[in-house]
Amino acid sequence: MSTYRSSAKRDAAVADDYLANHMACRACGAQTHRDELSAFGAQCKACFDAYCRAEQPRRPPPRTRQERERVLQGMRDMRRSTGGISTSEAATVAARLRALEASGMRLTDGQRWVLERCEAKAGMVEAAA
Ligand SMILES: [Zn+2]
Repeated sequence: MSTYRSSAKRDAAVADDYLANHMACRACGAQTHRDELSAFGAQCKACFDAYCRAEQPRRPPPRTRQERERVLQGMRDMRRSTGGISTSEAATVAARLRALEASGMRLTDGQRWVLERCEAKAGMVEAAA
């Protein structure tokens, strides 16, 4: 009785504490600790990992001018040697850049150049050229 009451009280306190510190993941709805949500963009670690696997580049995007130029030169070389990247590769690159843009990152001129060409190649926009 008194044992039961105090354990019920403890359970209620645990539940209150849990509810105070957990909120639903915006992706899957699972109750997730606030610290985890704030670390992974309002979603749980599992959803963040899934998002990364599906949509993010395996390597970080080029940051420096030299890195960007190497990426662009690589694409030009590839186009010369193989007649261009495949439609699905172009779609992947375009989706990756769109995801970066959607995450609030401002695309550089180099990235925008790549995005436009990849979208055109993938038929995601009406090709201008
Ligand atoms: Zn989730």
